[in-house]
Amino acid sequence: MASHITGLSFSELVAKLAARELSSVDVTATFLDAIARRDPKIGAFLHVDRDGAMRQAEGVDAKRAAGQFVGSLAGVPVAVKDVMCAVGQPATCGSKMLKSFIAPYDSGAVTKLKQADAVLIGRTNMDEFAMGSSGENSAFGPTRNPWDTDRVPGGSSSGSAAAVAARMAPLSLGSDTGGSIRQPAGLCGIVGLKSTYGRVSRYGLIAYASSLDQIGPFATDVTGAAMLLEAIAGHDPRDSTCVNTPVPAYSATVDQPLAGLKIGVPVEHFAEGLDPEIERAVREALAVYKSLGAELKDVHLPHSKYAIATYYLIATSEASSNLSRYDGVHYGHRAAQFGSLIEMYEASRGEGFGDEVKRRIMLGVFALSAGYADQYYTKALKVRRLIRQDFDAALVDVDVIAGPVTPTPAYKLGEKSSDPLSMYLGDIYTISANLAGLPGISIPCGFTTSSLPIGLQLQAAPFAEEKLLRAARMFERATDWHNRSPAIAST
Ligand code: GLN
Repeated sequence: MASHITGLSFSELVAKLAARELSSVDVTATFLDAIARRDPKIGAFLHVDRDGAMRQAEGVDAKRAAGQFVGSLAGVPVAVKDVMCAVGQPATCGSKMLKSFIAPYDSGAVTKLKQADAVLIGRTNMDEFAMGSSGENSAFGPTRNPWDTDRVPGGSSSGSAAAVAARMAPLSLGSDTGGSIRQPAGLCGIVGLKSTYGRVSRYGLIAYASSLDQIGPFATDVTGAAMLLEAIAGHDPRDSTCVNTPVPAYSATVDQPLAGLKIGVPVEHFAEGLDPEIERAVREALAVYKSLGAELKDVHLPHSKYAIATYYLIATSEASSNLSRYDGVHYGHRAAQFGSLIEMYEASRGEGFGDEVKRRIMLGVFALSAGYADQYYTKALKVRRLIRQDFDAALVDVDVIAGPVTPTPAYKLGEKSSDPLSMYLGDIYTISANLAGLPGISIPCGFTTSSLPIGLQLQAAPFAEEKLLRAARMFERATDWHNRSPAIAST
């Protein structure tokens, strides 16, 4: 019964709920039980709101029974990364700094989830303040990859990806500053979409790097991602960067193939450092598109070699400013022992932040400091513009750009934690979309010989999510990678 419900495709689940063949109470209870059984081996959840979730499920069932209007995600459990506020629930951001913080209001994305009648099932684990690529930087212990629990699930939305991959939630939300949705989706064999900068409200999203952060969906298939994006997208006057353009009905068009699809293949993304098994799977995926009538064309992103340096200057600079609010007075942990005010700041921040967060703050403060800002921060902004121009030029001739999500499959826990630079290099294919503000999606496209998932990344022009989803769904219909689930999903 359990894996019968948790193993349903997203469309089947929604159809059975709508037809009242399944109640939200049954569905929610089944996923909660799956979390209780599976999550001790994975560590995807930081907080599970069993009673609250069951109450919401009962409410949706009652509305349905009374013939009242229900939202597009009525009765569907959704897990939320612990970086978005939901009133009355913890929002730790994976940090000791916010260990006892309870959100006093709903974030924009959570407000939309509630309007869609989704069931908020729990809060997912993450790299501290979304800084990381492996899920190991959480103050509350690492998340493990459901396909191989000795390996990382990717980060920073580690728990949101692992929860969906292990079928502990049909949908989840993550945030993506440099790849934190697409990269764990790729390493966990599911669908993850970073929307265009400005597409989803970030009101109540705890800030990492404000010019890069975006919220987006995780699902086991493209249709689920389309429905969740449709539910959370749209204007919110409380986020001044959130754009007031209508939200297309992604779920209504997602099944329509794109005739004459032109796919750009960035030569720079198939260069040195790419694992041969990933290259093979991605090239096979491109061949599938070709067999579906798409035209493949080489494109160039000449500034992509500067993307990591540019990103790690801009992201850390913004982080050093955003994280100055955690001073032991306004927010977060305050040291028990201190002398002067300055010592209170030092002790509170020293105790509350983990090593990676401290490293980022120091890098950012340095890049912004007087005498260095022109050489580092300002220069990075100029290179950022060049990276955007590369994409603008490439996207004149093609609809989407396709390539790998990550240079390697999921690595072992601990393998890169003492070498931050090698971990940063893993972000090579994802960070440019954030620097350029474009949408990107990761979809399953194969497995390595040791059964680790491989992701295919598609990127498109700003606000071209509809095209991105349709292109992704075309591939999904022709393949069955998305139907595979890890062994833990049937326990
Ligand atoms: N891995 C990148 C970083 O550590 C991206 C993280 C993210 O997208 N939140 O900054």
